[in-house]
Amino acid sequence: MSSTNSNYPEIREAVAKLCSNFPGEYWRGLDDTDTYPTEFVQALTEAGFLSVLIPEEYGGAGLPIEAGCVILEEIQRSGCNGGACHAQMYTMGTLLRHGTDEQKKKYLPEIAEGSLRLQAFGVTEPTSGTDTTRIRTMAVRDGDDYVINGQKVFISRTEHSDLMVLLVRTTPRDECKKPSDGMSVFLVDMRECLGKGLTINPIKTMINHSTTELFFDNMRVPAANMLGAEGKGFKCILDGMNAERILIASECIGDARFFIERASAYACEREVFGRPIGKNQGIQFPIARNYIETEAAALMVYNAARLFDEGKPCGSEANMGKMIASEASWHAADTCLQTHGGFGYTQEYDIERKFRETRLYQTAPISTNLILSHVGIHELGMPKSF
Ligand SMILES: Cc1cc2nc3c(=O)[nH]c(=O)nc-3n(C[C@H](O)[C@H](O)[C@H](O)COP(=O)(O)OP(=O)(O)OC[C@H]3O[C@@H](n4cnc5c(N)ncnc54)[C@H](O)[C@@H]3O)c2cc1C
Repeated sequence: MSSTNSNYPEIREAVAKLCSNFPGEYWRGLDDTDTYPTEFVQALTEAGFLSVLIPEEYGGAGLPIEAGCVILEEIQRSGCNGGACHAQMYTMGTLLRHGTDEQKKKYLPEIAEGSLRLQAFGVTEPTSGTDTTRIRTMAVRDGDDYVINGQKVFISRTEHSDLMVLLVRTTPRDECKKPSDGMSVFLVDMRECLGKGLTINPIKTMINHSTTELFFDNMRVPAANMLGAEGKGFKCILDGMNAERILIASECIGDARFFIERASAYACEREVFGRPIGKNQGIQFPIARNYIETEAAALMVYNAARLFDEGKPCGSEANMGKMIASEASWHAADTCLQTHGGFGYTQEYDIERKFRETRLYQTAPISTNLILSHVGIHELGMPKSF
């Protein structure tokens, strides 16, 4: 164990124990049929791991984000995939930080208990892509409701969630002073909207991620379900995005550790030319390099987590941590596949599955280029290119 994975040892041990009940065969079976890991998510829910960030007054454990990082890191490290449910941990942050007392009392205790699932976060649209201020989904006030029309794409877990945090426009972009004005956030109860203006279509992807496209056709949402002030929704989702980046960066660290542990074990055990392949520095050094890169990335991610927990600005740190951690996991995935030779390509080793899964972090929840441009502009004062 290194100094970067010795925090919260009891939580680490308990998560690893739970995950040992969900071995590679379990995930391979789901992958073959694009099936949601219901039993795994249920076990995490019952153990209370998905509600650790909810304050105690609402029934959660009230732990800092660092504890959430440890949980997701251990899930990934054990070969499981937290992507099925990680959003249950952090999507509630928008409600917690921007909801009214009434909204929090209504939803948070049931979310903490696990009887209400809030694990869908609807931002991306087909035409706007990363340029979030150009979203077109529009909500118009009508009496006690808002009527929503538009479309979202790649919204994950909607078929396995009761609620969704949805970003829409309430004022067209060209009528706003700043492009980031005029957007609002709603807590949508999808159980009430499905078939009444809300259509959900699954999207098949290279990984088993339960992602979907959504169509809103005069979907009515009570005005009481708006989170934060009308027109100020962008700010509401931004601090949630920092939490998301820090937690997903921890998944990358966990993936990197999975690949490094698998690669070094295989390098010791596989003998070719009469000696373990790990004796060859061409095999050994890349794995050692991945380990060093992962240790450095973990320090950055835990630094971002600490700033977040202290309520300090951490936008750049969250972004940088996510980028460096996703690169550590991707490099380790490549090394691990190479170390395993042909066997790395077979499904039974789980390397090819984890290789596909960890590639996602180069693109979502934010792509590497956008992080580089954030740092270029906000940390280094260079001009914006778009
Ligand atoms: C499996 C999966 C699950 C997802 N889940 C969710 C979810 O639950 N909720 C949600 O809201 N979204 C989700 N997403 C969407 C994800 O956040 C976006 O795919 C991602 O933010 C990139 O947006 P885009 O696909 O529109 O790419 P685009 O914005 O079209 O960009 C395409 C490429 O161009 C690059 N690029 C664009 N503009 C610039 C520029 N100015 N300078 C340099 N490079 C640029 C990008 O970095 C990217 O590499 C998911 C995506 C996937 C694949």
